[in-house]
Amino acid sequence: MNFIEQIIEEDIRNRKNEAKVHTRFPPEPNGYLHIGHAKSICLNFGIAKKYGGKCNLRFDDTNPVKEDTEYVDSIKEDIRWLGFEWAEEHYASDYFDQLYLWAEQLISDGLAYVDDQTQEEISKGRGVPTKPGDESPYRNRSVEENLDLFRRMRAGEFPDGSRVLRAKIDMASPNMHFRDPIMYRILHADHHRTGDKWCIYPMYDFAHGQSDSIEGITHSICTLEFEVHRPLYDWFCEALKIHHPQQIEFARLNLNYTIMSKRKLLQLVKENHVRGWDDPRMPTICGLRRRGYTPQAVRNFAETVGVAKRDNIIDVSLLEFCAREDLNKTAIRTMAVIDPVKLVIDNYPDDLVEEMEAVNNPEDPSAGTRKIPFAKELWIERADFRENADKKFYRLSIDREVRLKYAYIIKCTHIVKDDSGEIVEIHCTYDPETKTGMPQSNRKVKATIHWVPVSHSKKAEVRLFDRLFSVPDPDSCDEGQTFLDNLNPDSLVVKDVFVENGLTFEKASSVKHFQFERIGYFYCDPDSTEETLVFNKTVSLKQ
Ligand code: ATP
Ligand code: MG
Repeated sequence: MNFIEQIIEEDIRNRKNEAKVHTRFPPEPNGYLHIGHAKSICLNFGIAKKYGGKCNLRFDDTNPVKEDTEYVDSIKEDIRWLGFEWAEEHYASDYFDQLYLWAEQLISDGLAYVDDQTQEEISKGRGVPTKPGDESPYRNRSVEENLDLFRRMRAGEFPDGSRVLRAKIDMASPNMHFRDPIMYRILHADHHRTGDKWCIYPMYDFAHGQSDSIEGITHSICTLEFEVHRPLYDWFCEALKIHHPQQIEFARLNLNYTIMSKRKLLQLVKENHVRGWDDPRMPTICGLRRRGYTPQAVRNFAETVGVAKRDNIIDVSLLEFCAREDLNKTAIRTMAVIDPVKLVIDNYPDDLVEEMEAVNNPEDPSAGTRKIPFAKELWIERADFRENADKKFYRLSIDREVRLKYAYIIKCTHIVKDDSGEIVEIHCTYDPETKTGMPQSNRKVKATIHWVPVSHSKKAEVRLFDRLFSVPDPDSCDEGQTFLDNLNPDSLVVKDVFVENGLTFEKASSVKHFQFERIGYFYCDPDSTEETLVFNKTVSLKQ
């Protein structure tokens, strides 16, 4: 049980909330969701489920300039893909009328005022935490004057930035958020939902808690950077005398070798450093999906990471581990040769094609078996042969034996090189008595290698990914450099490979997740066509 669950169980014991546990996931629709959001989604939806409550999806859409319905749609798709369904769908913008009335209420109670100072003057007046700030010369306006000015702000009489509405709290508070925080600003901008109805917009602190309150949220779970906002969250609820949800903070998820700022992810997309939000190298949920991660793997990852009270950095290899673990159980096995060299079995009949029985998933007998043609000429991996093999190399070398998976034991006899010295053919003989499943097949050899028949294989494209950034903390860079200077120039390698003939377009695009035996897990990319299949490498078989 994590510390948030402890708080909730304590609250349930004390019957603190009459209602059932009610959480929410509150994204700002200004970008695509990333793995950090997945953590928050699993937490909020997971808690609601565990305690028989519900979880809302609420779009915190109070900043019209950066928000868009494209993001709203992608967020909904990603949450559903993760396997969650919200109880209610809301938008902070649906509450603009109520928020406006509450602002007038605070003005009438002498708890808010219109400030004519510039943004710089306001910042300067706030001062520093160790010294009290200076009160605004407009702080003691009458209620009537404030109401009049605020209504005229709403009516559009003033230009952007000329006035703000501030809460009247304490300019000497050691908590800077208490030094008369801004509640409303003037912004003549079109909103993706409310159009031009509003030219004043509430700030985060005067929208988030109020929206939680309206929805009857019991536990408002957010990341640690909002801990310093909590007294203000509480203050507004008390001042407005409205339902008061409990804000609880946890440490945000940080992963090494990647970035999670939406602004920077947007920059990667806009400046074409990646192929889009769903580029398989991106830490976005749609990127992970296209990479071949499963919802189960992402949920397991969120669960394994747990909930912390202090910031920490999670190694990206844990995410990869979770992918491997889940895919091992479900991915259909197939053979593919990534870096091919030709193997010729000299004593195998020229025209013979045998059908070998291959297992589709040893972890799941119900996945069945398939037949793979076997012939005299095969493609094998170049790296499975070594001319000068030492004792530690167990695979193919002259005069050495290996097993060809699902087939025979072969012995290498000689090799053929081209003028440049590159190996173009590896020759061997096979022992017909050693066919997999036959009595002799238990004969010991130190290695088994995979293959595809030259005559019964086809080309496919694979996209091999490395980390998008070459350093663990992409944000730490030398002077004059940015996180972009830490991009890994070799994060994408595209290769032509040979796959089994039986891997048809229909099969690839319906099965989707494959294990290329001995290589790794691969996902059929939507760029695949009848002519050319495209596979993204999700993760290698071993770390
Ligand atoms: P921005 O970079 O625009 O401030 P954000 O990452 O805070 O964005 P929001 O849309 O405000 O994005 O986030 C929605 C919810 O997801 C918030 O409750 C936020 O605390 C949570 N969240 C965001 N990033 C992480 C993260 N890395 N780990 C855990 N939760 C996160
Ligand atoms: Mg945010």
